[in-house]
This record gives sequence, structure tokens and C-alpha cells, in this order.
Amino acid sequence: MADQRPPDVDRVAASRRAVAARRARASLKRDVAMRVITPQELVRRALADPSSPAGTMRVTEFLTSLPAIGEGKRERILAELQISPVKRIGGLGARQRRALGAFLDSRWPEQGAREGRSRLVVLAGPTAVGKGTVAAHIKEHHPEILLSISATTRPARPTEVDGEHYFFVDDAEFDRLIADGELLEHATVHNTHRYGTPRGPIEEALRAGRTVLLEIDLQGARQVRAAEPSATLVFLLPPSWDELVQRLVGRGTEGDEERARRLRTAKKELAAQNEFDFRVVNDDVAAAAEEVVELVKVPAR
Ligand code: 5GP
Repeated sequence: MADQRPPDVDRVAASRRAVAARRARASLKRDVAMRVITPQELVRRALADPSSPAGTMRVTEFLTSLPAIGEGKRERILAELQISPVKRIGGLGARQRRALGAFLDSRWPEQGAREGRSRLVVLAGPTAVGKGTVAAHIKEHHPEILLSISATTRPARPTEVDGEHYFFVDDAEFDRLIADGELLEHATVHNTHRYGTPRGPIEEALRAGRTVLLEIDLQGARQVRAAEPSATLVFLLPPSWDELVQRLVGRGTEGDEERARRLRTAKKELAAQNEFDFRVVNDDVAAAAEEVVELVKVPAR
């Protein structure tokens, strides 16, 4: 009888493809677990292309990558949604898609853009996502937008200029700024230095009808939301969790301990993205910057 097995070369190529596909699915699951993308976004990708890593992912695998879903819960959910455990997301029928979509929306609502945003724009996001680079790009290409200059107790880096990158102040001066109500928000970032947004220049620019951009950390973004509920909050996302880790490690300016701490902070920060009005993926700096500028052009009331 003739040998029915494919030739060795084919088998090697096929197994390589299988390994690559598994890796791609693992990376996507990390993205969902780390909240780089919403579960609904993964399902959208799966349905748009059933042969993609998202499309070929089994529903069981997908469900256990979601926060707080263990195996027991997974079985109950599958039974409730009437989806067989062997199903892949890209192969779900119309009724199953609707059931899965409704389940995800009820557990992890995707927050849409809110109406009535003001010209005060906050750009935040996890450590090493490239907020500073995107903000610098906006500053260079859109001089009509005021990029707020923060006060900080951190010492200046060799290339930094006082009054241009930051207002470098000592602890006593920072305390005074707080006491005199001169900061719109302030926070200790990475448990080390204090940073704050001076209120005066912002109020002046807003009065003059300009758009103001704050590139600050998450704690600051929350304070701005509380102080100015109409502020527009934009969350900058990495293209994937793996890419974020790469950027964090690749930067190489921190020691091991500091890097681990920043990674923990990044995880926490990613989990906060639903508090934001808009999400922008920083795949390409210029494109991300333009996307932020476009969002800001939304007419204010
Ligand atoms: P760096 O020291 O690398 O310039 O900035 C460290 C972090 O501080 C960045 O995540 C940046 O967004 C944040 N940051 C810069 N200015 C402010 C500010 O005025 N307020 C808050 N809350 N965070 C800031």
C-alpha cells in the first residue's frame, strides 16, 4: 500500500505553521488578559477573518483568558450560551455570536465616546507606551495645541531644559504650589518623584479657545476627570502586551527591580482603560498623534 503520509518537508512546514499559530493565539490571549484589547475586539477580529489567530482560537481557550473565569465557570457559560467546547470563535453560528456578544457586553461593557467633551485633553496610558513621544509629535506638528508643561521634583536629564520640558522644582516649592492651589492635579509617579500640572497656563489657553493637552499618569488623569468632568480622556495603548514588554525592556534605562515595578504598574494601568473616552493604539507615532488630534477636533460645547 502506498504511504499516505505527506512528505517530510510538508510535515515540517505544517508543524512550523502550527507552532506559529499557537504562539499568535497565546499572544492574543495575553492581550485580552492584560486588557490591551477588549474581549469583544478579539471576537470582532475572529469574525472578520476566521482563519486568523483570533478566528482559529477555541471558545474554551478564549473564555479562560478572560479575567476571573476558571474552568468550572467556563463550562457553565458554554452550556448557557449553547456553544460546544470544540468550537472555534471564527466558526460560531449567528445565534452563538449574538449570545457570546451579549454575555461579553454584560460582563465587560465597552465604554464608548461620551458627548460634550471639552478642549482639555488628557493623554495617559501604561508605562513605556510612548505617551511622551506622541505628545512631542503633536507639539511639533500642531502648535495650535498647547502641551502643558508639568512641574516636577525629579532632577533634569542632560537634554532637558527647565521651563521647556518641565519646571524643575524642589520639594518645598512643590509643597507651595499645592498649598496655593496652583496645581490642577498632582501625583507621585513610580513611587519616586512628584509631578503636577500648573493650573494657570491651562486656564488661560482654554479661555483663548485653544486645545490643551496634558501628558500625565493615570492618577493624574483621574484627578482631572474629577475636577473637570468634561475633559477628554484618551488612553494610549500598545499594539500588544508583548510589544509593551519589549519597549519597557528595550529602553534599558532602568535596573531589574525598577523594570519589574514598572511592569506591574503597566498591568494596573491597562486595566483602567475603560475609564477613558477614547483609546488610541500607538503602533506608529505619527499616526497615533494624528488620531489624537482628530479626536480633539470633535466640536466642543
Ligand atoms: P518622566 O519622568 O519619564 O518624564 O515621566 C514619568 C511619568 O510622569 C510619565 O508617565 C508622565 O506621564 C508622568 N507625568 C509627567 N507630568 C505629569 C504631571 O504633571 N502629572 C502627573 N500626574 N503625571 C505626570
